[in-house]
Amino acid sequence: MRIGIFGGTFNPPHKGHKNLALEIKEKARLDRIYIIPTFTPPHKEGKELASGEHRIKMCEMMFTEDFFTVSDMEINRQGKSYTYDTLLELKKTNAEDELFLIIGSDMLLSFHTWFRYKDILSMVTLCVATREDKVDYKELLTYSQNTLGLAEDRIIIADIEPYECSSTDVRKQLSLGFDAAFMTGTEIFDYVRLNLLYESPFMEYKRLLREKLDDYRFLHSLNVAESAAALACMYGADEEKAYFAGLLHDIMKNENDEEMLKCIGKGGIILSRTEKFNPKLWHAIAGECYLRTELGIADKEILSSVRYHTTGKADMTLFEKIIYVADYISAERNYPDVGTMRYLSAEKGLDEACLYSLQYTLKNLSAKETVIHPDSLAFYNDLIIKMKQ
Ligand code: ATP
Repeated sequence: MRIGIFGGTFNPPHKGHKNLALEIKEKARLDRIYIIPTFTPPHKEGKELASGEHRIKMCEMMFTEDFFTVSDMEINRQGKSYTYDTLLELKKTNAEDELFLIIGSDMLLSFHTWFRYKDILSMVTLCVATREDKVDYKELLTYSQNTLGLAEDRIIIADIEPYECSSTDVRKQLSLGFDAAFMTGTEIFDYVRLNLLYESPFMEYKRLLREKLDDYRFLHSLNVAESAAALACMYGADEEKAYFAGLLHDIMKNENDEEMLKCIGKGGIILSRTEKFNPKLWHAIAGECYLRTELGIADKEILSSVRYHTTGKADMTLFEKIIYVADYISAERNYPDVGTMRYLSAEKGLDEACLYSLQYTLKNLSAKETVIHPDSLAFYNDLIIKMKQ
């Protein structure tokens, strides 16, 4: 069999890795590819380097086709992950097979610095794919012949359409609080976020939310934070503050009724008759109280945007509308009208989006014969008067 060996940090794996592996599989007519994440020294785990166990799991999510085998051999071997040692190990189990070492073009140009590179080259055919548009095919060939002394039939240089992204790019996106799913796919992106694998804004609050919220609600909160920051950027509000308010808006959502009422009492709020009747309204009120009494947050805009994110109210400010709308358009939402809501919020303005969502909500509430909070009606009337005048 023709076996490809693709090692890397995979911190995290991304579509560039997958693209490289698939292209080389075709070009080199490989039967199987071993994906081999390198060992992480325990002292390097944390902020920037996810543990071996996490990286193995993410590789299994990325390399799902049955011709891939994700191997933990380097992670189990510990110590420095030398490709030479890995090949010796593979030679034992795959004595009859022809081995192909898959690398990106950036790695080729420093190949002569690899531990026992000549021995490596005696065991494998090198498979290289260009990583960036500007890479010069001729330069790669000259290097492989002159510096590595490789005959032409010992190297395959695949001139593929490069997928320009790196794990560094993914981590950078995360550190800014941006969406990185377009580089990793949604499953890995969510895994990274659920396990708090890399640094991103407001980590200490995310750790708290991770304890207080279930997986769905936690991801929803992150998505609302991202949508809120994007809307703030679009409409000229404070992006960081919008991210923060979006992040915390549902902080009490998974608490039981008793806890919510306790928190509301501590916050000095007396529930109205309508509010008492409908416990679904409590988490926003309790959320504002929690932020104020437990987290010591005093920013009025943040507090009121959390307080009114479910009902709205008359005279909503720009910031309050941003959190209100962000909650309706967050990335995981998939209700039938979400496309319209996203379009309105980006193209027609926040008032149009608020009105549309209110119409949707008011219709649903009356169909279910449940109470409608007077603040929502006030919000609705306010928008109609403002927009039709
Ligand atoms: P980092 O940004 O953290 O340095 P990386 O994205 O370069 O990580 P690695 O896991 O270090 O990823 O790379 C493993 C192998 O995959 C290397 O041989 C590298 O050249 C190759 N590679 C990584 N990204 C791409 C890409 N976008 N296109 C082609 N090859 C890639």
